[in-house]
Amino acid sequence: MIPAEFGYRRAASVAEAIGMLTQDEDARLLAGGHSLIPLMKLRLAVPSLLVDIGKVAELRYVSEGPGYLAIGALTRHHTLATNPLVREQAGLLAAVATEIGDPQVRHRGTIGGSLAHGDPASDLPAALLALDASYLVSSPAGNRVISAGVFHLGFLQTALQHGEVITEIRVPSGTGSYGFRKFRARSMDWAMAGVAAARTPSGIRVALVNMGAVPLRAAAVEAALSAGRPAAEAAALAAVDTAPPADTSASAGFRRHLARVLTGQALADVDAAAPGRAGSVE
Ligand SMILES: Cc1cc2nc3c(=O)[nH]c(=O)nc-3n(C[C@H](O)[C@H](O)[C@H](O)COP(=O)(O)OP(=O)(O)OC[C@H]3O[C@@H](n4cnc5c(N)ncnc54)[C@H](O)[C@@H]3O)c2cc1C
Repeated sequence: MIPAEFGYRRAASVAEAIGMLTQDEDARLLAGGHSLIPLMKLRLAVPSLLVDIGKVAELRYVSEGPGYLAIGALTRHHTLATNPLVREQAGLLAAVATEIGDPQVRHRGTIGGSLAHGDPASDLPAALLALDASYLVSSPAGNRVISAGVFHLGFLQTALQHGEVITEIRVPSGTGSYGFRKFRARSMDWAMAGVAAARTPSGIRVALVNMGAVPLRAAAVEAALSAGRPAAEAAALAAVDTAPPADTSASAGFRRHLARVLTGQALADVDAAAPGRAGSVE
């Protein structure tokens, strides 16, 4: 439970953080610390240097971009849950953020950290997949935009290269009603399984939490819905092409069952009269 020795530097800007990262190939960014520090205590992460971006003000904002809602990477879960623009234009994110961990986690954890950590049991990556979001990333080579669908490569693995910093999360405008359901043993626990669904300009998109090594689109559900099949029939396909973990909290079979039930509930919320509703089952 005691981390290995590491250095610590505080960055005042994104450019400074990138500079510090590129000087040391074992350096890691520190945002809210609520995923990285536990890994360090278990010595599953052994960075030589922590580059603290916690006070980089240019990464903490919510604003309207051209055709999308722009969210700075350092925006905390509590802000997502309470910010009027997020609630109005990306209600799914606000609803999901309300359900993350406990108040301490929501006041420290950041959206950029949640994405970069790459844990398929995290809620925001699946919600952002359902919303067809994309991520602006900066590095010494310049900026690039990575779409949510190709960002997660495997368990705790993302498309980020060393030296890259997520600076902005972009959520396309025009999302309608939504539903979010997660099942957990206690209110502050991670999801055994979860489902985020959103009515988008390209149809209803459904994404699954903790049903594989990465956040997954429920492609069979989406195809059934766009073919005009009833929501209950579509929800029965939620576990198709998933590979949920089996652990002390739940078997893979129970998670598949949860995915089907929760998808039915999330789709019912999407179908309900606007504005979208969200909820969790404990
Ligand atoms: C008790 C507890 C309960 C929790 N429950 C939930 C839950 O129910 N649902 C849920 O979704 N999450 C949950 N979390 C996780 C929480 O949401 C974390 O805060 C989040 O996953 C990571 O955000 P962070 O800012 O703390 O990142 P950090 O821990 O600081 O960093 C995580 C990783 O991201 C990298 N990183 C951080 N910011 C950037 C950036 N801008 N660009 C590139 N890389 C970056 C870091 O280098 C590190 O590798 C829980 C955490 C705890 C401790």
